[in-house]
Amino acid sequence: MLADTDRLREYLAERDEPCPSCGYNLRGLAGQACPECGLGLTLRVGLTEPATGALIATIVGLAVGAGWSGSITALYVVFSLGHGGWASFWEWSVLVPTFLFLGTLTALLGSRAGRSWFRRRSQDKRALLVVAAWTATVVSLILFAISVV
Ligand SMILES: [Zn+2]
Repeated sequence: MLADTDRLREYLAERDEPCPSCGYNLRGLAGQACPECGLGLTLRVGLTEPATGALIATIVGLAVGAGWSGSITALYVVFSLGHGGWASFWEWSVLVPTFLFLGTLTALLGSRAGRSWFRRRSQDKRALLVVAAWTATVVSLILFAISVV
């Protein structure tokens, strides 16, 4: 069996691969470090379609919704305890479910199983999930604005 260093050398013998750190062309590399920036290199297995952009866009969309609703819920609680008098039922009925729902989805999708589940969706489904996450956040903000006035 070849050692990892031999595999790395073999892989780079006839390929123009840029150093992931500095972009230096590593073709014909003899050692285990980039000659330009000096950082160590290793050969890895990657996903053919990592879909990282869509995954991050979906998680951020959900987290923004969980974040604003959670922050305002906390502010409301602090303000109400300090000054007495609670916000209307309608405001709470938007805030609390939004926070619980989007917060749970953020945590689920951020878990290892959630990320793997997301990556196994088709490209169309992933695009739909990005749109759905941001739509949920925007709609919850609109509902909250309506509940305040
Ligand atoms: Zn380098």
